[in-house]
Amino acid sequence: MSLQYVSTRDKTNKVTASQAILQGLSQDGGLFVPTVIPKLEISLDTLAGYSYQRVAFEVMKLFLNDFTDEELMSCIDAAYDDKFDDVSIAPIKNEAGVYYLELFHGATIAFKDMALSILPHLMTTAAKKNDVKEEIVILTATSGDTGKAALAGFADVPGTRIMVFYPKDGVSPIQEKQMVTQKGDNTRVIAIRGNFDEAQTGVKNIFGDKQLKDELKSRGYILSSANSINIGRLVPQICYYVYAYTRLLADNVIKNGDTIDVTVPTGNFGNILACYYAKQMGLPVGKLVCASNENRVLYDFFGSGVYDKNREFVLTTSPSMDILISSNLERLIYHIAGDDDKQTAEFMRLLSEEGKYEITPEMQKRLSDFYGGYANENATAEEISRVYHASGYVIDTHTAVASAVSYKYREGSSAKSPMVIASTASPYKFTRYVLEALSRTEDIGRLNDKSDLELTKKLEAISGVEIPKAVRELFDAPVLHDRVCDVDKMPDEVMEFLS
Ligand SMILES: *Cc1c(COP(=O)(O)O)cnc(C)c1O
Repeated sequence: MSLQYVSTRDKTNKVTASQAILQGLSQDGGLFVPTVIPKLEISLDTLAGYSYQRVAFEVMKLFLNDFTDEELMSCIDAAYDDKFDDVSIAPIKNEAGVYYLELFHGATIAFKDMALSILPHLMTTAAKKNDVKEEIVILTATSGDTGKAALAGFADVPGTRIMVFYPKDGVSPIQEKQMVTQKGDNTRVIAIRGNFDEAQTGVKNIFGDKQLKDELKSRGYILSSANSINIGRLVPQICYYVYAYTRLLADNVIKNGDTIDVTVPTGNFGNILACYYAKQMGLPVGKLVCASNENRVLYDFFGSGVYDKNREFVLTTSPSMDILISSNLERLIYHIAGDDDKQTAEFMRLLSEEGKYEITPEMQKRLSDFYGGYANENATAEEISRVYHASGYVIDTHTAVASAVSYKYREGSSAKSPMVIASTASPYKFTRYVLEALSRTEDIGRLNDKSDLELTKKLEAISGVEIPKAVRELFDAPVLHDRVCDVDKMPDEVMEFLS
């Protein structure tokens, strides 16, 4: 058991994988990182003959090393089953000259299902291993997709409860509908009057509130997080990059050892960090292209070495990327600082007190694996049209941000490696935005007076892709959650739910 997890802000806080999953965030406010990045043990050629589940097992067992093989297998089997509407779980599509890795075939048609379908099982297994008797309460802030995916993952899982806070005006109508219609006695959904960062800070404050936590413990509850800061979210995401590579191998697009580039539409920096870890494991990834929307904090950071969240928060058509504090970046900061917890803690202090920090030139050199780009609203919409025109393939707004940035990157670079684009949501999740983008070049009639259902049918006709079950069911589902609160009342809501 050489691999353990330490806090990015205090390395003396050291835990096992299962403890890190249970705790979510370290006591000191830091994020858990593995003490070493394990190397892939099995050759990529061998993995190319494996199913998604088996590839996931080979990757995850290296990181979750205090789980037995049986425990891990059973978590994987419970997660990646017929909740996914494609047997290959994460199919890869060659369209318009690049490879779209479709991560949206789970219960809520967005990539967060990839991790949130397995997290509840990892958590309840971890609780058993650590003799935890209390009920696990998941507290989550969401910019849209995490909330629903977490609700779907945890609903009716014995020994757990889940509470989701979302910004009232910061998610798409379909995202909101998905959340407020969530079934399950152990679920609660609350809209807050504020933006996503405020919701996230509110949740972080609750986690830091010792008195509140003690009170909950005496009532038989412990708090945990399903946000992408939990390593139980991060580790399952590493798997699909390895899987994508092995599919390209199996299809003879590449030979073992050839480099692929990857573009990731980025918000909280979890998805792209998973790809960085895959690269550290030995996966031949060249550039990690980090794509932002108009909230381009990361683009500026990669260009200047300055992380500065002091700017206007922009609401875009890719709301799951409308983020000014990319929490998972802290892990990368820790690594490029040479696993330096003191320095990381100092940067994070500056971030919370001044909203800004600047990394050293030495650290900046270690960012050469990354390329930062961004696409504004116009470029995003145009990209949806361009790809549709080129291949008849319809992408969602988040994927379009990545696709636009990747297109620009490839135009300006001589590198000819295959480009894999993390395709993070089904176009059916953002139907109106997608159709509005398409209507710029296609004659698809009036949209303004159409209901969501009519638009959905229109998208089906245009894309030739069947309406996913998750969307079909939504139209007549009753609203089960209608609570709204101010940011400073979030702790009260927690107490209310658990009284
Ligand atoms: C969450 C999300 C993202 C951003 O992923 P991060 O891991 O937070 O960087 C991108 N696209 C969609 C559709 C998402 O739901």
